[in-house]
Amino acid sequence: MPLIVQKFGGTSVGSIERIRNVAKKVKKAVEEGNKVVVVSSAMSGETDRLLGLTRELSTRPDPREQDMVVSTGEQVAIGLLSIALKEIGIDAVSLTGWQVPIYTDTAHTKARIKRIDTHRIHAELEKGKVVVVAGFQGIDDYGDITTLGRGGSDTTAVALAAALKADVCEIYTDVTGVFTADPRIVENARKIPVISYEEMMEMASLGSKVMQIRSVEFAAKYGVKIHVKSSFVDEDGTWIMEENEEMERVAVRGISHELKESKITVVKVPDKPGIAAKLFKALGDNNIVVDMIVQNVSHEGYTDISFTVNKVDADFAEEIAKEVAREVGASGVERNDRIAKISVVGLGMKTHAGTAGKMFEVLYKEGINIYAISTSEIKISCLIDEKYAELAVRALHEAFIENQETIVID
Ligand code: ADP
Ligand code: ASP
Ligand code: MG
Repeated sequence: MPLIVQKFGGTSVGSIERIRNVAKKVKKAVEEGNKVVVVSSAMSGETDRLLGLTRELSTRPDPREQDMVVSTGEQVAIGLLSIALKEIGIDAVSLTGWQVPIYTDTAHTKARIKRIDTHRIHAELEKGKVVVVAGFQGIDDYGDITTLGRGGSDTTAVALAAALKADVCEIYTDVTGVFTADPRIVENARKIPVISYEEMMEMASLGSKVMQIRSVEFAAKYGVKIHVKSSFVDEDGTWIMEENEEMERVAVRGISHELKESKITVVKVPDKPGIAAKLFKALGDNNIVVDMIVQNVSHEGYTDISFTVNKVDADFAEEIAKEVAREVGASGVERNDRIAKISVVGLGMKTHAGTAGKMFEVLYKEGINIYAISTSEIKISCLIDEKYAELAVRALHEAFIENQETIVID
């Protein structure tokens, strides 16, 4: 009997009516002869509401206690969904992350799944039940509740699919698949029928939040086939899988944008060895992930160092940068929260020259200034003013996707 994991995002379970709709979808999968494990997110807006409550009490809430609060959203959703399933004649049992159990490390608010004990789930499936698991949460070795970072229910679903050796992991969301750009911004964005793990990982890490990055990493590592589709429209979505011969090879697969970063600049740093090391070691020691780094050309023995971090870490990173600036005799620290990172992504870039030049030209023609650039084999990212983000995404989409000759590479 095939086993499938079906994950439903916040919007998909956003109201009682929508939970009923999800229950019907699950029932259909059961009637088609599948064993079904369901993963649910919290009802839409709930995680933000809970986080907001913690922030009313503290600007930097204790991470263990924050997890205790925000993990509750999923618990409500799985209970409601199980009730809805029973109402339409499907036997179901809801399980929190610690009831499964899903074991994680101890990094509260951004924990990583270490292992999953599948005994209970298998036993419930054997009894003919649908198992409804809470996304986004787990338990660490101290028995404390952890959460997996925003969008973490995707990772719960893929990790479960890997542990249970499921035939497929279906991710149900509020768009009909993965698009060439966020369809809420680019009207002409196209659904991508099949995308490689590598490209999806890059897009997810660059802001295409339709899938959490870690979930795609997991899928790639364990070969989990993912089908991203809509909870509301019944049509084929996007398959995420190993790159294969049949995939259309294009230079640029998609355009991603990220608004969640801040830029911090340490101004007028003496240009001598060891300073960058000191700054970035201090940030790393405090668990702050740094994304882009730029160091300007030296003028009369001084230079500026800029870097970007996630907005949730920006206050702390600024504090650390100020401390280091004082120690090394820099003139000060500046911060800009109104920036956007815009990226073009595609495996074809490995062999197709000219993408960077074309990207800079498109931005230049729109009068958009570039603050920083970073590249990998399959992506180019530019940091720009936040107010130009949508304009940049649309212009790049037009240049690279809408007007792209389908180049077949190899
Ligand atoms: P869920 O609550 O179902 O997990 P998310 O809000 O996390 O849903 O992810 C779906 C959203 O991702 C869409 O509503 C869309 O705005 C956004 N998105 C960003 N980039 C893309 C893209 N390239 N393709 C599809 N959706 C995208
Ligand atoms: N509810 C969590 C969030 O809003 C997890 C998820 O939806 O995937 O980030
Ligand atoms: Mg999500």
